[in-house]
Amino acid sequence: MSSFLYDLIGLVAGVCFILALKGLSHPRTARRGNLLGAAGAGIATLLVFFRSENEGRNLGWIIGAIIVGVIVGVPAARRVQMTAMPQLVALFNGVGGGAAALVAIVEYMKLGDSASFAVVLATVFTVVVGCVSFSGSIITFLKLQELMTTAPVVFPGGRAVIAGTLGGVIGVSGWVIAELGTTPLLILAALSLLFGVLFVLPVGGADVPIVISLLNAFTGLTVAASGYVLDATLLIIAGTLVGASGTILTRLMAEAMGRSLFGTLFGAFTAKAQASGGAADTRPVKSGTPDDVAILLNYARRVVIVPGFGLAVAQAQHTVRELADLLSAKGIDVAYGIHPVAGRMPGHMNVLLAEANVPYEQLSEMDEVNPTFPQTDVALIIGANDVVNPAAKTTPGCPIYGMPILDVSLAGNVIFLKRSMRPGFAGIENELLYDPKTTLLFGDAKASLTKVVSALKVL
Ligand code: NDP
Repeated sequence: MSSFLYDLIGLVAGVCFILALKGLSHPRTARRGNLLGAAGAGIATLLVFFRSENEGRNLGWIIGAIIVGVIVGVPAARRVQMTAMPQLVALFNGVGGGAAALVAIVEYMKLGDSASFAVVLATVFTVVVGCVSFSGSIITFLKLQELMTTAPVVFPGGRAVIAGTLGGVIGVSGWVIAELGTTPLLILAALSLLFGVLFVLPVGGADVPIVISLLNAFTGLTVAASGYVLDATLLIIAGTLVGASGTILTRLMAEAMGRSLFGTLFGAFTAKAQASGGAADTRPVKSGTPDDVAILLNYARRVVIVPGFGLAVAQAQHTVRELADLLSAKGIDVAYGIHPVAGRMPGHMNVLLAEANVPYEQLSEMDEVNPTFPQTDVALIIGANDVVNPAAKTTPGCPIYGMPILDVSLAGNVIFLKRSMRPGFAGIENELLYDPKTTLLFGDAKASLTKVVSALKVL
């Protein structure tokens, strides 16, 4: 293939990536954006086979690797529950960072002494950031999958160990640049893997999705740097886009949770008071039946539905829409209050409710809905907990302190649909469950909502 045609097709793939990001910025165009991104990636993959220095080389290995990737990746992506999506993203992302680091090492070994200074710098960057992204992503996966504790892991002298490892990474990077040897590069990779683990261990469960986004941005930068090493423009474009969008997403998520990135990463070392589970709370709570809830809703003028992670677990999005339609048909004003970090990934609730064709106009963002709670008769909280937990305002040192919340306590009545008294993702008690104006309807959200809908139909 002529280099002109090669570059032209590469440009088409690059444009697909940019349009994909644009499409992904709105729920209406997200599906198209996703397809465009996949098309760009497909074009880019095929194009590699036509690069003049690659033509026909190692074809068996490459096709074998693609087959293995398809066998592992496609069923994993098809079968994954939406609630487990962040873990899958973490794994895919970590593998991307690790692959970029491996490619950079191999390329460096091939070039040997002939590598230019700029290529050596890019190699060091790729190996360090790629390895950190790989091992850090594995830890985030283990945490989210609850294969290890989701609580921050801190140990005496932890800060010194992290600082020492970082110092080691910087020192060995200098050694690689000065000596140009494979041995220091492999030591650098090992130290970077260790740093990735140490860097993520102190992050608490509720903050892990932010770290996933940060590591995703790291992987993007790694890929961009490896594009420089390999002289592949498309890798530079795709990597830079991932790096930039990942950085913006990380910032937005940290802001939505009311914390700085530094606080997210190293808060466990500085927190003075951590809320703990403590002894089991034996205070009484007011629990109701589906009929009680239906009556409360039936006589309300305004109801705000607050969906959370439990709605996704129960897959109750269609039933909640049925309930909202029923209430609207009775002349009741219904809105959905969407917290920016409800669920386990940005936009989780919007995606879930869009699946049930809930009209976008009924979805109100936190800042929009909060002033309306004093005029709201019933706040119906379905599988949400942390995003309405007043501890975010009242308990300094607790894992969600400072996170803006939905002010449901200002509504006339609060109804919680959940299965037990267990806390939410952040693992902290919610005082609102014990508030006299709160009614708890225990059970799986979908089953409970189905019963409430049936009860409402006969009122
Ligand atoms: P939470 O994890 O706080 O609460 C979920 C609630 O759902 C739990 O109380 C649980 O109680 C209940 N639940 C679980 N399964 C069911 C079910 N089948 N039926 C009924 N209830 C169920 O979720 P929130 O959405 O309120 O908060 C999101 C959390 O994720 C926050 O801590 C946020 O900081 C964190 N996070 C989210 C990000 C995002 O982008 N969305 C990013 C970063 C962090 P029970 O077990 O008793 O049923």
